[in-house]
Amino acid sequence: MKYTRSSALFANAEQVIPGGVNSPVRAFKAVGGTPIFIKEAKGAYLIDEDDNTFIDYINSWGPMILGHAYQPVVDAIIEKAKLGTSFGAPTEIETEIAALAVSMVPNIDKIRFVNSGTEACMSAVRLARGYTGKEKIIKFAGCYHGHSDSFLIQAGSGAVTFGSPNSPGVTNGTAQDTLLAKYNDIDHVKSIIEANPNDIACIILEPVAGNMGCVPPQANFLQKLRALCDEHNILLVFDEVMTGFRLARGGAQELFNVKADIVCFGKVIGGGLPVGAFAASEEIMNYLAPLGPVYQAGTLSGNPLAMAAGLAMLKALESDAEIFNRLAEKTEYLHKGITKVLNDHKIVHTINRVGSMISVHFSGTPVVDFETSAKGNNENFKTFFHGMLNQGVYIAPSAFETWFITDALTYEDLDKTINAVHKVASTLQK
Ligand code: PMP
Repeated sequence: MKYTRSSALFANAEQVIPGGVNSPVRAFKAVGGTPIFIKEAKGAYLIDEDDNTFIDYINSWGPMILGHAYQPVVDAIIEKAKLGTSFGAPTEIETEIAALAVSMVPNIDKIRFVNSGTEACMSAVRLARGYTGKEKIIKFAGCYHGHSDSFLIQAGSGAVTFGSPNSPGVTNGTAQDTLLAKYNDIDHVKSIIEANPNDIACIILEPVAGNMGCVPPQANFLQKLRALCDEHNILLVFDEVMTGFRLARGGAQELFNVKADIVCFGKVIGGGLPVGAFAASEEIMNYLAPLGPVYQAGTLSGNPLAMAAGLAMLKALESDAEIFNRLAEKTEYLHKGITKVLNDHKIVHTINRVGSMISVHFSGTPVVDFETSAKGNNENFKTFFHGMLNQGVYIAPSAFETWFITDALTYEDLDKTINAVHKVASTLQK
């Protein structure tokens, strides 16, 4: 494959955009080489500026559950745009999508829309602090909740890919209020709570982590967190930016049958447009301005184009009773296929999967938290990434990311992907 035009475009971008990208992990820095510039996408495929076609497993980092340029979403955006693109005043469609989201997700009465997952998580934590009157939060090493200051403490995803899980620019004061726990280690969480009695407003986590590769919660981990939160008057915040409307209609709360106090959404809820949201019981949500004292706002929040795209997306997910099973079956097929090929080639690996989230770790030990995820063979990951790309399969350019399966993928696409792994496997270290 040739990447001539992408290389030229990247060189131009580097002149005027830091690192040539508007979000770091796009830069391919962790894997080397030049990022491919995308011209268009349809269904399961991306086409780059050199006219190469790729099967896409990034899917805009999650939201494209139904594939790219899904017709009802595109049509909804076009129709809305004809009526004006932003008013900074209420519109009927905001209530429509809010009501649909509330009906799909358990344990929430009210929802507020923002513009990104970062904003959703940042606002959720402010609300938790305002509601409980407490200041500290617990987050887990390797979980990513966006780039707001409180979360750039041992953050996963791009932050750790670039070696800055604790970013300069975050003050010591802010860092002190974020307490760091080990994912899947309930005793560690307990010890932190005991060391900070009556200080902790909330525990925030990805109920299935997707930012240290895919790391599922171990048996009853979420239930035990729920019990600890109840015991100590702490709010449990599920960051469902990746898992929401992907693992089940009601997200991880439904899949694991655990109640969160506040739930954060992003990406999916905007059908690929810039949207996030956070939601909770009426009692908690009524703490927000203009009803309550916790301030939170946004000029473009509830933007009509974003709401139209999101509504079309949620309606499609809501009305398709089989979609989440179909996604899980496709992912399981891929899991089995890749496992067989890597085993045949005697490549040390671990594959983690929940629903339609999956990641391949070049590590022989179970990957259950950030520490075990970081033990993977990064040289093998780099070779794997470029090998797959050259075979026309686009996976995230970092070992700390998850692959997202879309309903647009056919079994033929999955077979092509497994065949690509077969070709690449012979180039990997055993
Ligand atoms: N939370 C999680 C779990 C995420 O994966 C992300 C982004 N990948 C965010 C929050 C931040 O979302 P955004 O990039 O839209 O700000």
